Amino acid sequence: MESRYLNRDLTEAGEATRSIHGGTSPDLVTGAILPPIYQTATYAQEGVGINKGHTYSRSSNPTVKSLELRLAAIEGANSFATCFATGMAAMSTLLMTLMKKDEHLICSDVLFGGSVRLIDSILSKYGITASYVDAADPKNVAKAIKSNTKLIFLETPANPTLKLNDIEAISKIAKENNLPLVVDNTFMSSLQKPFDLGADIILYSTTKYIDGHNSTVGGALLTTNQQLATDFEYTRKNLGNIQAPFEAWLILQGLKTLGIRIKQHSDNALQVAKYLKNHPKVSSVIYPGLDDFPQLELAKKQHPFGYHGGMLVFEMVEGYDKAISVMNKVKLCALAESLGSTESLITHPASMTHAAMTREAREVIGLSEGMIRLSVGLEDVADIIKDLEQAMS
Ligand code: PLP
Repeated sequence: MESRYLNRDLTEAGEATRSIHGGTSPDLVTGAILPPIYQTATYAQEGVGINKGHTYSRSSNPTVKSLELRLAAIEGANSFATCFATGMAAMSTLLMTLMKKDEHLICSDVLFGGSVRLIDSILSKYGITASYVDAADPKNVAKAIKSNTKLIFLETPANPTLKLNDIEAISKIAKENNLPLVVDNTFMSSLQKPFDLGADIILYSTTKYIDGHNSTVGGALLTTNQQLATDFEYTRKNLGNIQAPFEAWLILQGLKTLGIRIKQHSDNALQVAKYLKNHPKVSSVIYPGLDDFPQLELAKKQHPFGYHGGMLVFEMVEGYDKAISVMNKVKLCALAESLGSTESLITHPASMTHAAMTREAREVIGLSEGMIRLSVGLEDVADIIKDLEQAMS
């Protein structure tokens, strides 16, 4: 059936347009402006070997494919996306595709705790090892390369300390050594462009800013190498960790407003950071938009739109006990793991997300006992500040 809306050429379109229209067009049969949710396990085939592009929803599904096309359209021309049930499913697929027994990877030292657990307690059983290095100095990455190193994995800004790693400088080291550079771009999402800085693969927990509404868990891998995308799909089919169609549909909805949401998250976070800086019970605030951010020059270079995301950390003068008391007193902000949603979420990394690490190991990476992580939401910023004020009083 003909439709003037089919196959719109979005190659020259701006990012907001691609975030709304990439990967979908009005339904050919009914004109419904939103795509249907293809809630199906299997697909009737016309004859042996004759199908319409999908055979079984563990391998691929039209709604998930729409999400993949949209994510690729947002990330830029010539990229391919593969979507997963969670961010950790994306991470495990990445490592099980690119690594095998007796091989080694280099990771930045401050990583989401789940990524460390996957590598150290699961993949180590299959002979895969990792070095965790302070990648804020790219020379440390170069020094850690061994003959069996197969991959460099960075998180920037790092979860939870917000330390930045220079993607461009590290991508040069990766290229000189013929190693793929993977960037977990979950914290910055559309505000940071790892492919423009030389990264080969981008990982997202779509659970966070990409969905943005706390509706789903999901993950994605993006690459500019089509064969690699096919390899990820093959691993996904065999691990059985594809995104579900209803979730993919919800994420397609969330994605439409990613651009405006994440700028507003950033504006709110900057205002909260400035308020906390002047609070007598707060000893330090880390936010890449503050003038005293230790890696200010890198923040300006690596966050090209002048926005620094919705995540900030701050430390209570009175340490651990006071941080716990703030956790227990917030009312508008929810005491919850996760980040990147319309709702403000507050966590105490030492007792929650990073509790599996020893206190000494946390200290080495700058994660103190009194540190609080705030994912600043889209509520009126005055209300977020009022809630923090009453919780700290
Ligand atoms: N990467 C980062 C930076 C994260 O913060 C998280 C989860 O918090 C993940 C990956 C894992 O994503 P998911 O929880 O969707 O499995």
